[in-house]
Amino acid sequence: MQKYSALSLLRNALSGHRDWQPAWRKPDPKPAYDAIIVGGGGHGLSTAYYLAKEHGLTNIAVLEKGWLGSGNIGRNTTIVRSNYMLPDNNRFYEWSMKLWEGLSLDLNYNVMFSQRGVLNLAHTPSQLDDYARRGNSMRLEGIDAELLGREEVARMVPGLDMSPSARFPVLGGLLQPRAGTARHDAVAWGYARAADARGVDIIENCEVTGFLREGGRIVGVETTRGEIRAPKVGVAVAGSTSQVLRLAGIERLPIESHVLQAFVSEPVKPILDCVVTFGAGHLYISQSDKGGLVFGGDIDKYNSYAQRGNLPVVEHVMSEVSVMLPFVSRLRLLRNWGGIMDMSMDGSPIITTGPLPGLYLNAGWCYGGFKATPASGWCFAWTMARDEPHPLNAPFTLDRFQRGYVLDERGAGPYPKMH
Ligand SMILES: Cc1cc2nc3c(=O)[nH]c(=O)nc-3n(C[C@H](O)[C@H](O)[C@H](O)COP(=O)(O)OP(=O)(O)OC[C@H]3O[C@@H](n4cnc5c(N)ncnc54)[C@H](O)[C@@H]3O)c2cc1C
Repeated sequence: MQKYSALSLLRNALSGHRDWQPAWRKPDPKPAYDAIIVGGGGHGLSTAYYLAKEHGLTNIAVLEKGWLGSGNIGRNTTIVRSNYMLPDNNRFYEWSMKLWEGLSLDLNYNVMFSQRGVLNLAHTPSQLDDYARRGNSMRLEGIDAELLGREEVARMVPGLDMSPSARFPVLGGLLQPRAGTARHDAVAWGYARAADARGVDIIENCEVTGFLREGGRIVGVETTRGEIRAPKVGVAVAGSTSQVLRLAGIERLPIESHVLQAFVSEPVKPILDCVVTFGAGHLYISQSDKGGLVFGGDIDKYNSYAQRGNLPVVEHVMSEVSVMLPFVSRLRLLRNWGGIMDMSMDGSPIITTGPLPGLYLNAGWCYGGFKATPASGWCFAWTMARDEPHPLNAPFTLDRFQRGYVLDERGAGPYPKMH
């Protein structure tokens, strides 16, 4: 792999930037591999990278039906945090946070991880109590959490409506200082480049259209570029999970697909240097390095595989943002797009062996899978290599729904659209 450094930048500048190597190769698929990963999003690519790096498995293919970054990895609002209540979630997402903290160095690729803090606003006394409880739960796991009062919040986010007549008065907030944002597509490119350097074949424009089965075992896949065999096939296709597993004869999964939309305003001078979430509705906002305000809200409540949203959600998100940060209502909206979320029944992910021998599943990320990208790949690689979950993802296996050990962080019940 060509090493990226200040020196290599200087050397290539002198030769007019003509000698940079492509970040990853464009190989043709081989007839067989030791492992196949279906889906070249963040989770598929990180799985391939950690399979090669941690488990020495390098004869691997990542099969992507479009191009790298075309799915949710390139569509999200880039928030990274580990501020959960349930210990199993805290441990998993904190492991992800630790991997994020060393990721640019590990991949030799700047993923622009910016630990600018995530602040959850509280609007009622009971919500503040709730945040104190969550903060304590985080601190018990060694995770940073600070409960802020009204004045501290006002100092941190000057644009907030802190007036006494505010529709939802701000009483305080829960801050995770180490949380923040990262550049989403750089994460895909960084993992792709580092996996490729370890011998992984990344094959774009290669859609999986079926599974090869022998004696009840999955032994490979059918694709738009021919049959490819492998004793281990991992599926990490996010919002397309139910469609892809149907090709393997799995008709029922504890997952529904819903669209989540994101919005970007025209660029403005620096005004918001942390991520803020509104506690009286569902809204999260940050400012990108280019100056645009990046925000999002709830999922569309109906099921869909379309990568576009609908106007009621646009209206809902706009009304929330203008209540919380009134100045945003004077900005023009630049862009709006949607991605398909794999919403699980309890709002927590699935990283598991099965549901068939030879098949492994990584899914159920809801609208929070970007922050999980490193830990998800790390745990899924372990699960695929050793045919058993790592203790960190043991609570996230598929059979928890059979056993009744659900991880319902929000306490919303078995309603995917509510999580
Ligand atoms: C608007 C929006 C905002 C979000 N905000 C956040 C956030 O702030 N923080 C956070 O943590 N998470 C967020 N998320 C969620 C996060 O982006 C996802 O949970 C995560 O990216 C999913 O994993 P992935 O990157 O592997 O998915 P994807 O990038 O979607 O990868 C799946 C890949 O599988 C491919 N595929 C599908 N079918 C096939 C097939 N048959 N053959 C081959 N390939 C196939 C797809 O083309 C796709 O590239 C957000 C998502 C959206 C849409």
